[in-house]
Amino acid sequence: MTKKARVLSGMRPTGGLHLGHYHGVLKNWLQLQETYECYFCIVDWHALTTHYDETHTIAHHVFDMAIAWLAVGIDPNKSHLFIQSKLPEHAELHLLLSMVTPLSWLTRVPSYKDQQEKLTEKDLTTYGFLGYPLLQAADIFAYNADFVPVGEDQVPHIEFAREVARRFNFIYGKDDDHVIITPPQTLLTKASKLPGLDGQKMSKSYHNTIMLEDPPATVEKKIKTMPTDPARVRRTDKGEPERCPVWALHKVYNDEATLEWVQTGCRSAGIGCLECKAPLIRAVNEELEPIQEKMADLKAHPEKVCAALELGAARARVTAQQTLTSVKEVMGLAYPF
Ligand code: SF4
Repeated sequence: MTKKARVLSGMRPTGGLHLGHYHGVLKNWLQLQETYECYFCIVDWHALTTHYDETHTIAHHVFDMAIAWLAVGIDPNKSHLFIQSKLPEHAELHLLLSMVTPLSWLTRVPSYKDQQEKLTEKDLTTYGFLGYPLLQAADIFAYNADFVPVGEDQVPHIEFAREVARRFNFIYGKDDDHVIITPPQTLLTKASKLPGLDGQKMSKSYHNTIMLEDPPATVEKKIKTMPTDPARVRRTDKGEPERCPVWALHKVYNDEATLEWVQTGCRSAGIGCLECKAPLIRAVNEELEPIQEKMADLKAHPEKVCAALELGAARARVTAQQTLTSVKEVMGLAYPF
């Protein structure tokens, strides 16, 4: 049997998941787990790099994230699903890699400056925040992952990881072909930026989300109060779907016949906006219903979540320890005493 290529991906537990996470990341993971050996990691240490002063909520967010992943169909028997901090091998590898990583490589990663400019309310002049791309590299290297699914904005991080891997192999490899750490490749995911309730990318920071846990009445209220084409002031005004955020969501959720009904009805003022929103509300709630049922079951049986996380961590640990052993051997740290 040919060995499956390995994929590593992670998510920061900084709050509940919304439909943007589902359509942008998790649906992709569901496909990946059918083809690759997947390591899906709840990266709690990464959350600390920006949320170091909000640790009272982290345990809650970690557990909720595990529930959401399982509820959407991440299968612990197919994928390794685990919490980063349960694998101290990541931290040890991070420390060893930090010895060979030039500081200038970290300061020039675009997100270092970008995030400092965006998150002005936080002091991000910390050692942990600067080193976070290296921690991410350690996460990937721990499993010698071949691929990392990323969007365009994360490509520089993978480039950085490749450079670190090459430098490590150059310094500690016995010859030019000796690969101790596999330089990972990007698995570019189609930018599936689910539009939010206001038409911008769905994101908690824009307050335009539909959460995976939103009950049907909340979904209905959120969609009913969505802005529409500003030209449709009165019911009799004709509209243009391309100017309307509701249309952007219709295109994700509804079939050709419904899309045709929306376009014709909107442009002729044959339908009102509330009427137009009804099939969208229905489709979103139909998508969420089975996920929410599974979430409720997992909340009622937390032992199932713990078992999945323990299984994932145990399996991941075998690989991470093998990697760390090889790294320590080539660095001369595998002492016989
Ligand atoms: S009819 Fe539908 S697509 Fe047209 S403006 Fe209203 S909500 Fe938007």
